[in-house]
Amino acid sequence: MHNAAFMELGLDCVYLPFKVHSQDLGKAIQGMRGLNIRGLNVTIPHKVAVMTLLDDVDDSARNLGAVNTITSDGGLKGYNTDAIGFLNSLAARKIEPADKKIVVLGAGGAARAVALILMDRGAHLTIVNRHLPAAQALAGRLTGMYRRDIQTLEFTADNLKEALGEADLVVNTTPVGMFPAIDYSPIPYRWLKKKLVVFDIIYNPIKTRLLQDAERRGAVVISGVEMLVGQGAAAFELWTGKKAPVEAMRAAVVEALTP
Ligand code: NAP
Repeated sequence: MHNAAFMELGLDCVYLPFKVHSQDLGKAIQGMRGLNIRGLNVTIPHKVAVMTLLDDVDDSARNLGAVNTITSDGGLKGYNTDAIGFLNSLAARKIEPADKKIVVLGAGGAARAVALILMDRGAHLTIVNRHLPAAQALAGRLTGMYRRDIQTLEFTADNLKEALGEADLVVNTTPVGMFPAIDYSPIPYRWLKKKLVVFDIIYNPIKTRLLQDAERRGAVVISGVEMLVGQGAAAFELWTGKKAPVEAMRAAVVEALTP
């Protein structure tokens, strides 16, 4: 998507993947300095370890404890664009989280970004997770930051049904339904309803089983492709200072993910 964006705007830039082993992370970051590389994305398993190798870390990354984007203008600075990518996907559908009842399925890395930005924007959260202590740990951190309670539930059929009964929006941040296990959904069909917005942050497949079911129920659905493109667009803007050509970026992602 970044190369599509560079082409669209006629920028003399290229986006390349580099495989970096954990023991070489420091050398890779030194290489960024030495080669004057304009920007980097960082992914698993380096998102936390890279923080100590940078000159500065923005609040977006400090609050999440993970960096996914680095800029090199006047020193290396780390950011995290996952939360803003998620929020922009909601904004594109004119969905404002303030005062909404929102269920987050999962309590891992992606849930952290999603839950943080939803709390920041005034939503009422229920976090449902397979291992309750992980949900409680995440909720405890966010409650400390925002001074608002968060309900936590273990991922059981009854709990899920109860949480969804009241909800305006549900966000799946678990990998249930991700390629290749595309026939699975974290939510039974009968508990989906028309007035629910269903956001599945999985982007492969573009339309998961959960989103197909929700659509058949008449719910509004949002694909993880939107968050993927949203976080990419935010990174692009940090690197280039230019407005990201989001349509060209989305088209490149959809083409790459279409079997
Ligand atoms: P992660 O840190 O490993 O967290 C996974 C979460 O899902 C944990 O809370 C885990 O629960 C739960 N989980 C895993 N398997 C489960 C199962 N079979 N049933 C119920 N719960 C289950 O992973 P992550 O980095 O957050 O990524 C999660 C998903 O989000 C992936 O599909 C990833 O591709 C997607 N993602 C999308 C974007 C985007 O831009 N669209 C960005 C980031 C991630 P436990 O705590 O009980 O283990």
